[in-house]
Amino acid sequence: MKQLFIVFEGIDGSGKSTQVKLLTEKLIAAGHKVYTTFEPTDSPIGSLVRNIFKGRMNADHKTIAALNVADRLDHLHNEINGLLKKMEEGYTVISDRYYFSSYAYHGVHVDIDWVIAANALSAATLKPDVNFFIDVDPEVSMKRLNSTRGTIELYETLENLQQVKAKYLESFEKLKGEEKIVFINGNQSVAAIADDIWKELDNL
Ligand code: ADP
Repeated sequence: MKQLFIVFEGIDGSGKSTQVKLLTEKLIAAGHKVYTTFEPTDSPIGSLVRNIFKGRMNADHKTIAALNVADRLDHLHNEINGLLKKMEEGYTVISDRYYFSSYAYHGVHVDIDWVIAANALSAATLKPDVNFFIDVDPEVSMKRLNSTRGTIELYETLENLQQVKAKYLESFEKLKGEEKIVFINGNQSVAAIADDIWKELDNL
């Protein structure tokens, strides 16, 4: 397999971080150099966003959308562990969320075309070789979140996850000509999802 930039997308509780971890382990076992990362990042800008999600800070949706744009640019370009640097160093990069998360989560509150335009620099700089969309019913992901997480963050209500999922689908439809988007049935077992992802990567 050539060096890839692989992104996982999906609503909260869809199983992204579970699958990111499994895929990282499999690729490393197969001898690849893998760098695993996530958005919002753990940089100072990403931490601002996380504080808003946790309710420790307040900001309107346009501000959150703009902070995510800045966090993503820093994620790409920062000189210590930026994605471009990691790709240059020969790593396969796996990210838990990238710009489609902005389109989906902020598109619920802000004009989706503005969100897409605001991320144009990132899209022009580094496009994923594949966006895996882990497709789960919002009811299923809410059940998972309620049973496993002590606190429920901003965005994590059934109604909002339904709206976010609809915005994911809308943005995939808008950008299907420019982006590689692969739907994975996320209502299956962890192992079955991992198998589907592995088969899709083989095709790439
Ligand atoms: P995300 O990163 O998309 O928010 P997680 O991977 O953290 O989702 O999964 C949310 C919760 O659901 C975790 O407790 C995880 O163990 C569980 N989970 C993940 N995938 C599945 C699955 N396919 N079936 C059942 N539970 C799952």
